[in-house]
Amino acid sequence: MSEILSTFTNFKNILCICPECNNISRLSELHLSSNKKTKKTWLDDFESRVRDLGELESEHDSKANEIREKAIQRGREQVPKMINASLSGAITKLKYDPYDIKPINHSIPAMDDFSLMFFYT
Ligand SMILES: [Zn+2]
Repeated sequence: MSEILSTFTNFKNILCICPECNNISRLSELHLSSNKKTKKTWLDDFESRVRDLGELESEHDSKANEIREKAIQRGREQVPKMINASLSGAITKLKYDPYDIKPINHSIPAMDDFSLMFFYT
């Protein structure tokens, strides 16, 4: 173990010059890598599973967003029908944009669960 420590300590004293930009760094600061194949470790397996999970997560998020967007669109398409069904004929004859009507929903125990009031904005 002390041999590894002393090797690492020596790496701090070996200076390198980058052939591209002439930057001087210590050997111990370099992120060295090799093309040589090595035996897989549990960390390689773990990292691969974390990557797969990340991909699944982002796939799930984009599907969830798509579903949410479609639900919003379906809801918006229902607005004119709901407004027409909820208002009296005298009011629906008036010229108005159904999206300008703000519903206030509250339950009334003896009546329907749902009642709709409106305001012009
Ligand atoms: Zn460089």
